[in-house]
Amino acid sequence: MDQTRTLGKTKLKVKRIGFGANAVGGHNLFPNLNDETGKDLVRTALDGGVNFIDTAFIYGLGRSEELIGEVVQERGVRNELIIATKGAHKEVDGSIELDNSREFLRSEVEKSLKRLKTDYIDLYYVHFPDGKTPLAEVAGTLKELKDEGKIKAIGASNLDYQQLQDFNADGYLEVFQAEYSLIQRDAEKELLPYCEKQGISFIPYFPLASGLLTGKFTRDTVFDDFRKDKPQFQGETFIHNLKKVDKLKAVAEEKQVDTAHVALAWLLTRPAIDAIIPGAKRPEQLQDNLKTLNIELTEDEVNFISDIFK
Ligand code: NAP
Repeated sequence: MDQTRTLGKTKLKVKRIGFGANAVGGHNLFPNLNDETGKDLVRTALDGGVNFIDTAFIYGLGRSEELIGEVVQERGVRNELIIATKGAHKEVDGSIELDNSREFLRSEVEKSLKRLKTDYIDLYYVHFPDGKTPLAEVAGTLKELKDEGKIKAIGASNLDYQQLQDFNADGYLEVFQAEYSLIQRDAEKELLPYCEKQGISFIPYFPLASGLLTGKFTRDTVFDDFRKDKPQFQGETFIHNLKKVDKLKAVAEEKQVDTAHVALAWLLTRPAIDAIIPGAKRPEQLQDNLKTLNIELTEDEVNFISDIFK
């Protein structure tokens, strides 16, 4: 399998398996995280040949970016890496609001640059629409930052189909990030086909459906983080999902690989998906996910898996 791809129309060449770093310093998202483990995750990614790291301000309100920046500086590998980060969240009197204004995004990019200890960001996403700033104008702000060399590519995340088209009115959008996995396939209706047609790279988040597609959960699993409130992990839907994952497990066993590898390899067969960014809480999980690069799915296997999760 070719392990490197250029992201859409950008000049960014990434290994097809990157690292999603929301559990690096993301203390506001997950309980019991430890900064040292977070830094070890980044070191493990680099040691494993990963060159594409995905973070955001909201992962620890800047802590994820800081920890990544520390490891990148310690290793002296900045120019070998593609670092993606995101902004839109604003702290106002202890709560979080969304802001896509030019003034706010420009100041957020400056802050991200400092936290990441770098003078450019390879890929900057507007994390969420704020519901008021016109999206073509938001894209224009990122275009301005790109022209100034502060960011190298323009991204957006969490837009619906209309918003995606609005953001891309002037053709500036290069990378789009949205939820997509075998468990959550809504993006197939409009978002993925649009990205494919426009040459926009689609980066799926929650590629393992937050661990569900690793096959490690049973109906008795008790969750202590955001998963306890997520529909995929609730009642009958959860049991239904576990039954599908059991079928995926059988495919994996036949190929003598892990269930997670098959779920990730399937994503890599989708049009518009140049790379994926599975997350990890422990270095072993990250190393394990990289094994996906060693497996290839036949067309029959891809179709069979697609049908299980229709
Ligand atoms: P994910 O990749 O679907 O699942 C990651 C989680 O699954 C890990 O934290 C770990 O959690 C478990 N896991 C991973 N590998 C495993 C393995 N080999 N064996 C067993 N368990 C394993 O979800 P995600 O990390 O939340 O999403 C990926 C990335 O997308 C994020 O890191 C972030 O960079 C990005 N993201 C972006 C947005 C957005 O709005 N744009 C939203 C969400 C995420 P446990 O050990 O706790 O089970």
